[in-house]
Amino acid sequence: MPPPARSILDTRADQMFPTLEPPEIERVRRFGRIHAFNPGEALAKVGEIGVGLCFILAGEVDVSQDDRSGHRTPIVTHGRGAFLGELAQLAGRPALVDARARGPVEALIIAPDRLRALLIAEAELGERIMRALILRRIGLLETGGGGLVIVGRSESGDVLRLANFLRRNGHPYQTLNSETDAEAKALIERFHVDAGQLPIVLCPNGKLLRNPGETELARCIGLVGPIDPNRVYDVAIVGAGPAGLATAVYAGSEGLSALVLDCRAFGGQAGASARIENYLGFPTGISGIALMARAYNQAQKFGVEMAIPDEVAALAPPIESGRGHFVLNLADNERVAARSVVIASGVRYRRPAVKDLEAFESSSVHYWASPLEAKLCAEQEVALVGAGNSAGQAVVYLASQVAKVWLLARGADLTANMSSYLVDRIAGLANVEVLTRTQISALEGADGMLQAVRWRQGASGEEMRHLIRHLFLFIGADPNTEWLAGSGVALDAKGFVLTGTDAGANCRSLETTCPGVFAIGDVRSGSVKRVAASVGEGAQVVAALHGFLAT
Ligand SMILES: Cc1cc2nc3c(=O)[nH]c(=O)nc-3n(C[C@H](O)[C@H](O)[C@H](O)COP(=O)(O)OP(=O)(O)OC[C@H]3O[C@@H](n4cnc5c(N)ncnc54)[C@H](O)[C@@H]3O)c2cc1C
Repeated sequence: MPPPARSILDTRADQMFPTLEPPEIERVRRFGRIHAFNPGEALAKVGEIGVGLCFILAGEVDVSQDDRSGHRTPIVTHGRGAFLGELAQLAGRPALVDARARGPVEALIIAPDRLRALLIAEAELGERIMRALILRRIGLLETGGGGLVIVGRSESGDVLRLANFLRRNGHPYQTLNSETDAEAKALIERFHVDAGQLPIVLCPNGKLLRNPGETELARCIGLVGPIDPNRVYDVAIVGAGPAGLATAVYAGSEGLSALVLDCRAFGGQAGASARIENYLGFPTGISGIALMARAYNQAQKFGVEMAIPDEVAALAPPIESGRGHFVLNLADNERVAARSVVIASGVRYRRPAVKDLEAFESSSVHYWASPLEAKLCAEQEVALVGAGNSAGQAVVYLASQVAKVWLLARGADLTANMSSYLVDRIAGLANVEVLTRTQISALEGADGMLQAVRWRQGASGEEMRHLIRHLFLFIGADPNTEWLAGSGVALDAKGFVLTGTDAGANCRSLETTCPGVFAIGDVRSGSVKRVAASVGEGAQVVAALHGFLAT
């Protein structure tokens, strides 16, 4: 029998729960205020925005979480020198655990803005605290503790949609299968839920949502709050992919007030990458979500605000807005005011022209290959269409998770668009069959579930039919620039944003035809479609922002 998987609590408890020495506590005192708690009093309550990070000066605090049956599970007891909190405290978001004073407790409370100042001013101590906050969140993600419970059919497209959204946003959750799990059945009965209303989501604040949209869910769990319409940011960054997050980190660290908006999740396309192996400094590779989560936390450390998910629907330049600054109109009718704007809205996946594709999109057709999709396809044959690097990476990953991968490529061979290391790796995989000059001709299935895929191969165009329930599409992407219509920002013939000398003789590097609006990353005309290039442009644009804001 394989040994039981060890949790982060088993392996890294000392880093998760460090104790500060008295001289170290003295150093952090200037960032907080002292507060006394009575025996039994709550220092943190699940679903409620807390006071901040609490350093225990005297007494003991019990930290616990509810499991999915509502039973209280202890996590840790903090004593003198320990501190209470996790990543939620960095951004002033609702707590994911409960914490109660055992007896009388004296604590030093550090509010989120002062915590960020501490992390920057006290580099070594800040590193230990930041590491503990991140590891504690990872611990909660491992158990799903303190998060929400999704109840529905495990193959349902809506369960997958909600689980994907929470996973991509680093929020803990658990799923209960409504068809097989006794607890799920009890919950459905208790809340009188009809089958048509599934999945339901139970939020930590006690609210029950019936098949919610991502924005409704995000608002319920405090991931996104209202935006102050009177605040004018130095820069509004549209898109939280590598380009937007890099801008955020450099802008924040250089003292600019910045707001990042993303309609989906942080990480962009990179967040969907199973393994990035060509990013400088990671010789063993790193999953896209891990790399992007680091950048997301880093930006928040420098005080950058996040509005995710929030979709930008239109951009009004200063003259049009009549307010002397840019105004971004959001899909939910909120507004953001900023002195400058960085367009980092990247690209979105292309869809092949195959009849009924949409009908299978929620359950059987996938545009990325994460552990969630891999779990659905375990021990099955899958088809993947594409011939670029993202397709190659997905094939390598899926091959380790499924019975067989059919790789369908339109061109004559893979080497035209795929890095040679991936082509070589695919050639060495026994359960991958590469079919070149091949195109999908039809999809068959019922109730949103795919049952078979037909494709035509080679010069003969002979049609083949295979029993396949999951189809992966990696066939390129188009720029996300519809929201720029009417803004005065010029695009090239394919819809990518023109910048620098392509936009006009007097434009700064990375500046668009609209002064004060810059474009970086995949959405920029002529950009190199790579994580490192996007990150580099994110750093570079901040220098251009300083130049513009100084005028
Ligand atoms: C599966 C996969 C694997 C990859 N692997 C690698 C790799 O190994 N190495 C490598 O170098 N590159 C890789 N790439 C390419 C790399 O991920 C991209 O070049 C990079 O992510 C581009 O970054 P970006 O920030 O410019 O745009 P994106 O990553 O596309 O991010 C744009 C963001 O903007 C948001 N957005 C769009 N419109 C709006 C709007 N109106 N309002 C608010 N938000 C909006 C989107 O939701 C998205 O999060 C991969 C890509 C994919 C898809």
